[in-house]
Amino acid sequence: MNIIIFGPPGAGKGTQSKYLVKKHNLHQLSTGDILRKEITNKTNIGKKISSIMASGSLVSDDIVSELIEKIVSDIKYKNRIIFDGFPRSLAQAKILDKLIKKYDQKIDIVLKLSVTLETIKKRILERQYLEKRSDDNEKIAIKRYKTYEESTEPVIEYYKKLNLLKVIDGERPIDQISKEISDFIALI
Ligand code: AMP
Repeated sequence: MNIIIFGPPGAGKGTQSKYLVKKHNLHQLSTGDILRKEITNKTNIGKKISSIMASGSLVSDDIVSELIEKIVSDIKYKNRIIFDGFPRSLAQAKILDKLIKKYDQKIDIVLKLSVTLETIKKRILERQYLEKRSDDNEKIAIKRYKTYEESTEPVIEYYKKLNLLKVIDGERPIDQISKEISDFIALI
C-alpha cells in the first residue's frame, strides 16, 4: 500500500510515519529529510537549496521530483511508500500521478493531520531545543504554516475529490492518533 500523509510542519507527520513504517513494513519517503541530507553532505543540490529551506519556502519542483523518482522507481519500495512532505503543491500532485502510473502503482489512502497554528508554534519551539533545526524558530514556523495553507491545502482538496482523504484530529495524544490511522488502514 502507498500512503500520503499531510499536515502542517509540526503536526506529527514524522512520528506517525515512523509508526506506520514499523507496523506495516513501509518505507518513509520524507522529502524534508532527503533535502536536509543533501545539505549536510554539501552536494550540489544541497548548496542550491540551503538558503531556500532556511527561509521556510519550497524547493523547486524539478529538484524534488528527481529525488522522488529515485525512490518510486526502485522495486524494493514498490507499493510500500509513505509520502511524508510530498506532494506540497498541485503541480507536485500531478508529478506524483504521472510517476505512480509510470511505475504501475497507486495511492491507497491520504491522511491529513489537522492542527491549529497555536499548537504548531508550541511544538516547533519544543523541537527547536531537541533537534536544533535551523528552520524551527517562531517566525519561520509561521512562514512554513502559511506556505502549507497556501500551497498544500489545495492539494488536499484534490485528494478529497478522489475519495482518498481521511482527516484526523492531530491535537490528541500520539497513540490515539495512531489507533485512528490503523482503523482507517484496516478498511482499505
Ligand atoms: P519538512 O521536513 O517536510 O517540514 O520540510 C522542510 C523543508 O524542506 C520545507 O520547508 C521546504 O523548504 C523543503 N521541502 C520539503 N519537502 C518539499 C517539497 N515536497 N517541495 C518543496 N520543498 C520541500
